[in-house]
Amino acid sequence: MRITQTLVLATNNSEKFEEFKTLFTGYPELHLTPASAVLANPDKLELVETGDTYLENAIAKARSVNRACHSPCLGDDSGLEVKALGDLPGPKSRRFAPKAAPGTDKLTADRANTEHLLKEIKKKGGGTEAQFVCTLALVIEGILLHASGSLEGNIIDIPRGNMGFGYDPVFVPKGMTKTLAEMTLNEKNLISHRAKALHALMTQVRARGISFAKP
Ligand code: IMP
Repeated sequence: MRITQTLVLATNNSEKFEEFKTLFTGYPELHLTPASAVLANPDKLELVETGDTYLENAIAKARSVNRACHSPCLGDDSGLEVKALGDLPGPKSRRFAPKAAPGTDKLTADRANTEHLLKEIKKKGGGTEAQFVCTLALVIEGILLHASGSLEGNIIDIPRGNMGFGYDPVFVPKGMTKTLAEMTLNEKNLISHRAKALHALMTQVRARGISFAKP
């Protein structure tokens, strides 16, 4: 019989959870659970995303959920960095547009953020080079591990595709022709910043001999 250990993902973004769930099929010893399943008030996660860096935010999310549930917790923070905008929106990607204020539904916020991004790039006279960055923080038995991953690409000015979330419809990974929103989840997971961060983190977990399995 296989013994699996629960790992709580400190996010309330359901699309992100789906991406992680697919990524975790490569780690069958872990059963990924959303924070909403273990927290009385999952909206509290919004409050801890106040840092200036991905790492601060990822650690704060993992620690706050770990304090509440005492299970191993994975916190993540991610964003889009556009070179012509001095790496903005970065860790503030989720709330880049004034219309994407807290409380706005996700689809409206994603559209407002994307429109705002294209407008800001146009104001700067163009420049499409960008990258997605993801940082993960794992809190397990008092130990903190973290890792990051990135995905380079270009921003296009007319959105394409309806899969994924966030800025996916305007991001074409380097050397490819489809936007992330035109890719299946499996295609995105082969190259994504999230996948790279997770594999780097699990390499550290295995190198340190950390076992999630219950004795
Ligand atoms: P957070 O990590 O929950 O703060 O959200 C990061 C924000 O960055 C998302 O709301 C998106 O706007 C953007 N973002 C991060 N990763 C992706 C991605 O894989 N595709 C599209 N947008 C992303």
